[in-house]
Amino acid sequence: MTDLSTLSAAAKAWPFEQARLVVERLKKTPKDEVIFETGYGPSGLPHIGTFGEVARTSMVRHAFRCITGDKIKTRLIAFSDDMDGFRKVPTNLPNQEMLAQHLHLPLTKVPDPFGCCESFAHHNNKQLRELSSIASALSTSSCPRPRNISPARSIRRC
Ligand SMILES: [Zn+2]
Repeated sequence: MTDLSTLSAAAKAWPFEQARLVVERLKKTPKDEVIFETGYGPSGLPHIGTFGEVARTSMVRHAFRCITGDKIKTRLIAFSDDMDGFRKVPTNLPNQEMLAQHLHLPLTKVPDPFGCCESFAHHNNKQLRELSSIASALSTSSCPRPRNISPARSIRRC
């Protein structure tokens, strides 16, 4: 064990506590790869809460990698429930009247109110991928060496 994995194994922070639970589960049921999953409903623009969902999962993944000395392959999966529909139009979107005509339809059938993507779901999923790549960059950095991260771009437009 490296110094970092020794320190990580005793860390009291929440991500390390959760990662230790995963390590304990692996002792009972060994696997070659651990998949960390998160997701959201894209009926509104991704926001800080959406980023938090991805960031929390990425923090546990990173803690897991530190504890295990990065000897077990990990993967992050972020899913999007884009078959869900609007019950009402979010007030922070352009083209309110057009969106009001698409209530209760799968978000993949709702035109992109920004006009840049195939559908509103595609627009928001693209934003989710950007958030996920930022959070993933945080968690895939080598332990303990931090990785340079590109500045975040606007999450409103594609
Ligand atoms: Zn778009």
